Amino acid sequence: VDLHRDDIGQRSETVRRANLSAIARELHASGPLSRSELVARTGLTRSAIRDLIAEFVAADLAEEVGSVPSGTPGRPSKVVQLDPYRADVLALEIAVDSLAAAVVGLGGHVLAAIRIDRPRGHSSVDDVIADVAELAAEVLEATSRRPRLIGVGVAVAGVVKRNDGFVSLAPNLGWVDVPFGQRLASVFGDGIAISIANDADLGALAEHRRGAAVGETDVLFVAGEVGVGGGIIVDGKPLTGSAGYAGEVGHLRVNPDGLPCHCGSTGCWETEIGERALLRRAGRAEDGGRVAVDEVLADAFSGRPKAVRAVRETGRWLGIGLGGLVNVFDPGLIVLGGFFGRIHPLIHDVIELELDRTALAAPRALVRVAPAALGVDAPILGAAELAFEPLLDDPAMWLSRRRSRTGPTTVGLGARTMVDELRRVIA
Ligand SMILES: [Zn+2]
Repeated sequence: VDLHRDDIGQRSETVRRANLSAIARELHASGPLSRSELVARTGLTRSAIRDLIAEFVAADLAEEVGSVPSGTPGRPSKVVQLDPYRADVLALEIAVDSLAAAVVGLGGHVLAAIRIDRPRGHSSVDDVIADVAELAAEVLEATSRRPRLIGVGVAVAGVVKRNDGFVSLAPNLGWVDVPFGQRLASVFGDGIAISIANDADLGALAEHRRGAAVGETDVLFVAGEVGVGGGIIVDGKPLTGSAGYAGEVGHLRVNPDGLPCHCGSTGCWETEIGERALLRRAGRAEDGGRVAVDEVLADAFSGRPKAVRAVRETGRWLGIGLGGLVNVFDPGLIVLGGFFGRIHPLIHDVIELELDRTALAAPRALVRVAPAALGVDAPILGAAELAFEPLLDDPAMWLSRRRSRTGPTTVGLGARTMVDELRRVIA
């Protein structure tokens, strides 16, 4: 055995896999691209791009759709795109006030989506599982003519362990130590990979890939709902921490003399900038929910003094916490999600002022603050992105599965199979 030659073979296989991944990521994030654009974006040679694209096309994951002038006379550049109908994922979101399900195709195309409002205080794990199974069956049935479901991604408004989807705390759902990953696996079966993460982490991922933070390397995403979620992108990659718990900025203690928090501490950032604090300052019941928040925001936008004061005081505390985070993370961009994004026009000056006061001059000078672009759907779109990760990371694995058999494609699970499984569980 020539070990040296084996080494070279292994290394070139590693390079091939990395190159396939680079192409899949570009096409998934940007949509149809010409070969010339892929050459420019990946730094690969024209002939390498041609051969790698041929692999995707042979596996039915991509198709060539015409051509554009390449800049070189007489040589138009073929345009290639991933086929959203050849591989898709099921995305689910467990929010405090709603549940959502979507089927999303390669390239980020939403093929079907449902969101239902839920009353607060009815969030037992059993109820939630039964409801998401029903929603999942509905969206899958709406799109079941397609053959390949490659994964399930789930966003949960809680503290989630990445490797097994264990939810140690979801204060606003009332969940403590819930083996949610295990519970979902018993519903969806063993045939499909299920990835679960915190909703704000996934909101950050979606805003980074398809929203307000495209092209940024260091991003801080902070979303205001009942709870306050945070997602952090460092050097282009989501910061997960050792287990997936990183980014819980809502429980930074900003006011030692503040109010008790659902997490057991007092004076957490959430107690000053979460939905309850806004409603309290506006003179309303803290548990008024989304309807009450909408009313306060409408009042504030029409200039009613009490609502304006409530919104701006929330903005002041938001700026105070952001200043500290700027010092730690040196983000180029802060993206405000949830109701923070909605009130941004009313509070941007207060935030800038508090950043001036709180953050160090150098990182403060570089950071910009912008509202989220994807709105309420950021977490569920991020859940879809999470479920695509295995394919984007190593497309070669999926291409070889396809090639290993003749006849119909074998990547992923039939959507029909999954619907039957869900219907059986629901019954
Ligand atoms: Zn807390």
